[in-house]
Amino acid sequence: MTYDTVIIGAGMSGLAAGIRLAHFDSRVLIVEKHFREGGLNSYYTAGGYPLDTGLHAMTNYAPNGPKSAPLKKLLRSLRLRLSDFDLTPQTTSKIVFPFATLTFSNDLDLLKQEVTQNFPNQADNFVKLIKVVNEYDFGDLASGRKSARKIVSEIITDPDLLEMILLPVLYYGSAEEDDIDFWQFCIMFQSLFLEGLARPPGGVRVILSTLLKRLEDAGGELRFGAQVTRIEETDGKVTAVILKDGERIECGSVLSSAGRIETTELTDTKPPDDSARAGQLSFVESINILDRPAKELGEDSTLIFYCNSEKIRYRKPEEPVDLDSGVICFPGNFDYTDSYNGPEMVRVTHMADYDYWFGIEGLQYMKAKADWRLRSLETIANVTSDFRDHIKFSDIFTPDTVRRYTGHINGAVYGSPDKLKRGVTNLRKLYICGSDQGYLGIVGAMLSGVIMANVIMKEKD
Ligand SMILES: Cc1cc2nc3c(=O)[nH]c(=O)nc-3n(C[C@H](O)[C@H](O)[C@H](O)COP(=O)(O)OP(=O)(O)OC[C@H]3O[C@@H](n4cnc5c(N)ncnc54)[C@H](O)[C@@H]3O)c2cc1C
Repeated sequence: MTYDTVIIGAGMSGLAAGIRLAHFDSRVLIVEKHFREGGLNSYYTAGGYPLDTGLHAMTNYAPNGPKSAPLKKLLRSLRLRLSDFDLTPQTTSKIVFPFATLTFSNDLDLLKQEVTQNFPNQADNFVKLIKVVNEYDFGDLASGRKSARKIVSEIITDPDLLEMILLPVLYYGSAEEDDIDFWQFCIMFQSLFLEGLARPPGGVRVILSTLLKRLEDAGGELRFGAQVTRIEETDGKVTAVILKDGERIECGSVLSSAGRIETTELTDTKPPDDSARAGQLSFVESINILDRPAKELGEDSTLIFYCNSEKIRYRKPEEPVDLDSGVICFPGNFDYTDSYNGPEMVRVTHMADYDYWFGIEGLQYMKAKADWRLRSLETIANVTSDFRDHIKFSDIFTPDTVRRYTGHINGAVYGSPDKLKRGVTNLRKLYICGSDQGYLGIVGAMLSGVIMANVIMKEKD
């Protein structure tokens, strides 16, 4: 069978692209090397608990935002409604540094008040930053990389407030050390602070099952256990993909969510001008099931972004894990209207050194995971409650887990620091979507899938 488009990967971007292409009556096939959808944002069961691999919160909530808001636009493109994702808003979250704490919610006024209270001489500057982001031309894909740290520091002139604003933005999307492209900063600032956070009580399964059902209804196909090992080309144009078992699937175009460098490695003639660097930034995350709600143990925040130093160290650490900063997430602390039936837990994320975690195995790997999880819980007890006596089950993933399950080089969660914003490669009819296009998070990944589906239809012969 010949397909119009083969999509590599059934993560958020691949699934959204598949739905969109199927809406255009395109014959589309998604091939996923694993036996489950979701990619970086998937799910599993351990210790009898339904667990998510990634999801802290979905960004871009904005239920009362304009029709042009990213999530609303995305849902229209996928012919879905906001209610299909069953989203519940966050309560409040915090950014904690030694010199100040800022609380924020989905109501921007709270963050404005907090900035005014903690940094009175920055109140006007913060309003100016909001205006700059609101007026930013997100469609300007031609401009090159600009340092957000530099541009934002010209608006927010207090270096402490600058660090506080950058911490969540970097943790939730930056593929570069200590900085982020200003275009991506604006996307992330808008997604996190202007539009807000939400989560389905049932976790990422709700989002994924909705996407799978939509794909099936629209006539798109999906095959699991189908790893692409080569993208075949003739006269500089894609003609087929070859699977690990040797099967050849003919197609008019290929859209890959495997990553920019990872995809180049599947081609015969490596495009000469593709000099993208491999990403280096990865995380460990522990999932700790609690014997009671976190609220009963003194913590009612949804998310806490903390940094124990005055300045963030957002880079590949010299130690296996950098406990100096992190993200602490309480999925049970969203503003659920009905009682929450999911497992009560605390998830803790820190930067980690891929080389260390890739280089150890067996008992040493197990022991390192257990040691670093305990050290992490001890560290965060100074930022939130001490949960150590209330954990009935735990699991931890490392940069090596990310590499094994997604194929991303170095377990780099946000891919290469060199983004291919237009998603078009040097090989005709080979396109890229997902993190390496530069769109961030779940909503960003799905949007990038939709955008690239539109490009493919426009460029169809
Ligand atoms: C720990 C963690 C927490 C996160 N938390 C959040 C959050 O709370 N909110 C949020 O918005 N975002 C979050 N993210 C980010 C979000 O998960 C990603 O941005 C998004 O899911 C990326 O989707 P994608 O489709 O671009 O790529 P991926 O999810 O990486 O999907 C790529 C898919 O391609 C498949 N594949 C790769 N190579 C091949 C091949 N050769 N053949 C066949 N298939 C192949 C992979 O198996 C994978 O399924 C988190 C990420 C992580 C790791």
